[in-house]
Amino acid sequence: MQTVDFKAAEEKLQSIFGYDQFRDGQRKIIEQVLQGIVTLGIMPTGGGKSLCYQIPALVLPGVTIVISPLISLMKDQVDALSELGIASTYLNSTLTAEEERQRHQEILEGVYKLIYVAPERLEQTYFQHLVGQIPLSLIAIDEAHCMSQWGHDFRPSYLRITEWIEQLRARPTVLALTATATEQVRDDLQSYLQIDQQHVVTTGFARPNLRFQVKKGVNKKRFMDAFLAARKEESGIIYATTRKEVEQIHADLQALGYAVASYHGGMSEKERSIGQEAFIRDEVKIMIATNAFGMGIDKSNVRFVLHYSMPRTVEAYYQEAGRAGRDGENSDCVLLFSAQDIRTQSFLIEQSDRLEERQEMEYKKLQQMTAYCHTERCLQAYILQYFGDEREMTCGKCSNCSHTGEKVDRTKEAQMVFSCIKRMRERFGKTMVAQVLVGSSNQKIKQFDLMNVSTYGLMKDWTQKAVVELIDVLTAEGYLQPTGSSYPTLQLTEKALHVLTGKEIVQLIEAAPP
Ligand code: ADP
Repeated sequence: MQTVDFKAAEEKLQSIFGYDQFRDGQRKIIEQVLQGIVTLGIMPTGGGKSLCYQIPALVLPGVTIVISPLISLMKDQVDALSELGIASTYLNSTLTAEEERQRHQEILEGVYKLIYVAPERLEQTYFQHLVGQIPLSLIAIDEAHCMSQWGHDFRPSYLRITEWIEQLRARPTVLALTATATEQVRDDLQSYLQIDQQHVVTTGFARPNLRFQVKKGVNKKRFMDAFLAARKEESGIIYATTRKEVEQIHADLQALGYAVASYHGGMSEKERSIGQEAFIRDEVKIMIATNAFGMGIDKSNVRFVLHYSMPRTVEAYYQEAGRAGRDGENSDCVLLFSAQDIRTQSFLIEQSDRLEERQEMEYKKLQQMTAYCHTERCLQAYILQYFGDEREMTCGKCSNCSHTGEKVDRTKEAQMVFSCIKRMRERFGKTMVAQVLVGSSNQKIKQFDLMNVSTYGLMKDWTQKAVVELIDVLTAEGYLQPTGSSYPTLQLTEKALHVLTGKEIVQLIEAAPP
């Protein structure tokens, strides 16, 4: 490995960007890139990924091409760079033929250090020709998880990036950046771009300034109204699942006198960008959006991200919630959960024309997201563990860490649930298990002859809903393993067997009372 003079990079950081030092991870990524090493950088949203290619772009002799999925954001990036005195440009479908021609000319003249393009552009022959005529130093792939079919935001056009890179005459360095750290996505990116394990740079994923909260069983609208009333001066994002929901919340908040903007896939490009601009410039404080909003948005003073309903995956949740507090100030990430959210997301998975194998994976991810809503562990720790960080930690501020109530010993009830599942031969889902435990005599119970199971009616003092909630918590805590797709059956894990044999006790915060 050749050594690099890192001074030039540090000098640019201070003189152009005005920052004292590189953040965790930035330094290592930039060092590798300057040495010509193909690198995968995994950093949380707000971690500072842009600098990882912007600084090398300034230090390296040739041009840096940044592949980015969202054309609406290229202009923002280019504007921000031009304010810093950095010559950059973008090529996308919003340009007129004349603008495009002029930019080509300037690119050939060597005016720009950075060129932002959408992946679709790489396939156009004239672009390939253009690129063949300029000295390339670096290809930066932003939001690189879009390359992986296992990611939460796969884009087919991203798949062709590797082919394009391979046919380049000059061999520039490649830097892939993403905030998605799941093993499958990492493996895919490493194999597509042939990145050695030692050249994968992952920074800590914890976001200590974020306070995560899950609110279950609240009246969502009332909660939101009170939440916003207490934050009149703050900027925040409200995520909803469907366009209809976005429009409804938008109308409700507008009627209450809030200055709000909205963003979803059904709006025109123009409408979306007007709302987005107004939000970024602080002309409106609240953005109500579907998950179409936010990728690549750099608004540092977002004080809260409120999820009106549960998103489908933990990756998506963390990325969306992570848009709060980029400036390092304390910020709130609140998720309003109701059981209906699971049904909505399951329906969306069912409706998608994806392959069966992929649907199964989506259901699994949905289960892990649901478990986030039910876990009694530290919420930040749950997320970090999901991303493969096994360290024991507690954030001390999330809704679970700050819960002050006593824990209740639920060993006896857990044993009842586990033995019931065992007696039912691990062949049923949570609703049926709960029905057997409370002694329901509905049609299905009769049909499967479950009234004769020895655990039948063992929890008859409990409501069915309370037993289902207890099962959800036990699932989130790893005692039960849901298996199968849309209507998973429950299986016992080893942890549950220890409880059944009396080796372990179960203490829960909010096991629902009978
Ligand atoms: P990401 O793309 O990883 O979500 P950004 O590149 O948009 O994050 O950076 C997030 C914020 O952090 C930006 O406001 C950026 O200016 C700031 N930032 C990045 N690197 C540093 C640094 N070394 N020191 C201070 N602030 C930084």
